[in-house]
Amino acid sequence: MLRFIMHYGIHFLVPIFVGWYCYKEYRLKAILILLLGIVIDIDHLLANPVFDPDRCSIGFHPLHSYWAIAIYFGLFFYKKTRIYGLALLIHILADVTDCFFLFQSK
Ligand SMILES: [Zn+2]
Repeated sequence: MLRFIMHYGIHFLVPIFVGWYCYKEYRLKAILILLLGIVIDIDHLLANPVFDPDRCSIGFHPLHSYWAIAIYFGLFFYKKTRIYGLALLIHILADVTDCFFLFQSK
């Protein structure tokens, strides 16, 4: 249960929090972009089964691989694409937390 709360908490609450505090001039737009970080989960559709609660996404799905994460850091580095990198990194953070709980329960 804690794992579930942590995962969705990071997926939904962190973007709202970060958007609210870091992008005061255009809060709503920032929050929307940050929430859209969740779209990279579409790569789960390529996997079989599509959803497996016992699987760690990181390093498994193409958009959750280590080179993909490196690209997200690259996006974060440049001011123009920073918010997109941030959105994707928050997503990765949510998934990493999920994996952490997963490995701990094994
Ligand atoms: Zn994910």
